[in-house]
Amino acid sequence: MSQLDEFKAYYGRVEDLKQSLNLLSWDQHVYMPQGAAETRAQQLSTLSSLIHEYTTSQQMKDLLAQLARQHYAEDSDEGRLLARAQRSVDQASKLPAEFVETLSRQRSKTAHVWLKARAENNFKLFEKELAKIYDLVRQQADYLGYETHPYDALHDQYEMGSTVAALKPMFAELREETVELLKALGTAEQIDDALMHKAYDTEKQRQVSEEVARRIGFDFEHGRLDPTVHPFAQDISKYDVRITTKYVENWFASSLFGTMHEAGHGMYEQGIADAYHRGPLGAAVSLGVHESQSRLYENLVGRSYAFWQGYYPRLQAHFPAQLSDTSLDDFYRAINKVEPSLIRIEADEVTYNLHILIRFELELVLLEGSLKVAELPEAWNEKYEAYLGITPPSDALGCLQDVHWSEALVGYFPTYTLGNLMSVQLFEAAKRAHPGIEADMVQGDFTKLLSWLRDTIHQHGSKYTPAELVQKATGQALTAKPYISYLNSKFRALYGLS
Ligand code: ZN
Repeated sequence: MSQLDEFKAYYGRVEDLKQSLNLLSWDQHVYMPQGAAETRAQQLSTLSSLIHEYTTSQQMKDLLAQLARQHYAEDSDEGRLLARAQRSVDQASKLPAEFVETLSRQRSKTAHVWLKARAENNFKLFEKELAKIYDLVRQQADYLGYETHPYDALHDQYEMGSTVAALKPMFAELREETVELLKALGTAEQIDDALMHKAYDTEKQRQVSEEVARRIGFDFEHGRLDPTVHPFAQDISKYDVRITTKYVENWFASSLFGTMHEAGHGMYEQGIADAYHRGPLGAAVSLGVHESQSRLYENLVGRSYAFWQGYYPRLQAHFPAQLSDTSLDDFYRAINKVEPSLIRIEADEVTYNLHILIRFELELVLLEGSLKVAELPEAWNEKYEAYLGITPPSDALGCLQDVHWSEALVGYFPTYTLGNLMSVQLFEAAKRAHPGIEADMVQGDFTKLLSWLRDTIHQHGSKYTPAELVQKATGQALTAKPYISYLNSKFRALYGLS
C-alpha cells in the first residue's frame, strides 16, 4: 500500500463517521420522535468527539508529514487534497479542547435564552449571553489567527480565502445600488400577490415539489425530499442527498421556491466527482458557492419567465380552482413582488441582500468593540430605516430574529450575499457558453445548464477555492456588477420603469 493509499484509507474512515453523523443529524430534524432528543444529542456528541480525535490524531499528522515530503505539484489533485486535509487538521488543532468545550456550553445556553428572549420580546434577557458569545468568538479568532482583521479568521471557516477588505467595497456598491433601485420601485404601481395566499392543498404541493425538483435535475436515485419545519439540505454522501421543504396551505411559495432552493444545494453535492468520494476534496468548497447553486435554481431558474412559460400550464392543471383565471404574466409578477419587510428569510430578490449587509456591518462593529451589545437594537433599527425604509416595531421582529449569533456563527451571514452575487455571474457565463439555455427552459430541458454547472463547479468539490472557481468558470473575479444589472433590468421592467 502506498503512503497516499494509506492516508486515503485513514481519511475515508473519518469521512464515514462524518457521514453517519450527518444522517443522524438529518433524522433529528425530520423523523426523530421528541422523546429521543437526549440520546440523540449524546450520539451526536460522541461522534463529533471521535471525528475531532481522529482528525487531530498523531497518525493523521504523521501521514500528512510523510506525504508532504513527496512534493506533489501544488495544483495536482494530490497536492490539493493534502492542502485541504492539512487545513482541517490545523483548524481542528488550533482551538484548545477546553475552549471548544466552553464555547459549546455557551452556545447551548445562549440558544436556549435566545428562544425565550425572542418569544418574550426581551432583548435585555439576551444581551448578557450575546456579549459572552462575542467575547468567545474574539478569542476564537485569536486562536485561529489572522493577518488584518479578526473577522477574517471567523469568516474564512465558511468561505475560504474571503476577507473583510474584499467584502467591504463590493458590499458597499451593492448596498448603494440596491437602496436606489428599491426607492425607484417604491414609486411604481405595486404588485398584488394575493393569489399566492389562496389555499393550495399540501398533498398536491408535495407532488408539485417532487415534479419540479425532478424537472430541474435533482436525482431521486441518490436523494430524498421530505417535509420539515426549517427546511435545509443535508448530504450524507454524494450518493445520498437529503433535501427538505415545508408545505404551508396558504403560502405556496414556501414549498415551491424552497424546494428549488434546496434542490440546487442537493445537485451540487450529487455532482461532486466520484473520485473525490470519502476524501478531503469530496465536500462542497464553501457556503457561498453552495448558496450560489441554490439561489441560481430558486431565482434565476425558478423565478424566471422562461421557466414558467414551460411549467405554468402544468401548475394550472394541478391547481385549476386557484390558477385557471390567472394569466402567466400575472403569476410571474406575483412571484416576483418586491416589498421591504422585517424578516430576512421571507425577503424578495431585491431586498434580501440588504438584510445580510445590515448583519455584516453590525457583526464587524460588534467584533471590533466599537458597538456595545447593549446598543445593538438601536443600531439595528437605524439601519433598517436607512436601507429598507422600515423600522421594526419590536426586537423580536428585529435583532432577535436569527438563530446564527446565539450559535456563535459570526462571519457566516456574508456567504448568503456572496452566493447571490456568484449565482448571477455564473448564470451569465453559462448562457454565454450555451446561448440556448433559456429556450431550453421553456421546453422543460435543464440538461445543458446542469452539465455546465457540473463541469465548472460541482465536480471540483473542494479542489479550488471559491475565488478560483469563479475565475475559472466566468473568466473574471467575483464582482457585484452582474448582480446589480440583473436586478435593475429584471425589476425595472416588472414594475414598468425604464
Ligand atoms: Zn441555502
